[in-house]
Amino acid sequence: MSFGHSALRGVPVTGTGGRVEYRLARNAVVSEFHKGRLSRLDVCDAHPELLRAARNVGVPFAEDCPICEAARLVHVTYVFGPRLPPNGRCPGTPTELARLCRRADEVVCYVIEVCPDCAWNHLARMYPAGGRHRVPASPARRRGGG
Ligand SMILES: [Zn+2]
Repeated sequence: MSFGHSALRGVPVTGTGGRVEYRLARNAVVSEFHKGRLSRLDVCDAHPELLRAARNVGVPFAEDCPICEAARLVHVTYVFGPRLPPNGRCPGTPTELARLCRRADEVVCYVIEVCPDCAWNHLARMYPAGGRHRVPASPARRRGGG
């Protein structure tokens, strides 16, 4: 089984050493869909494993699916790096993700937006972590009211 081929389309061959956003590429795909040049079969092709991750550990964000417009999108993060599974590790909790991002080994995190309803998926961004990219132990967080 080789997960990642379709969800990670558009991944640049050479690393840039920093965070890369895929919003423009994503919007182009959505636009092609709305023009009728791509079908749902073309854009709603999330791998079953990705869909399961989206339902179980996906992090909802305030945006509706651009394809079916009936469901909230979620972000699923996959982490690739030394001593991690070839298909990437999908952390189940923010704590586990933070731990992966603090590894001594450099890792690369891929954030994929997924619609658990219609299986729309597209790479949202990638960013390096771990090693020299290690993030501070305690990210800024507001306490109290909300
Ligand atoms: Zn959808």
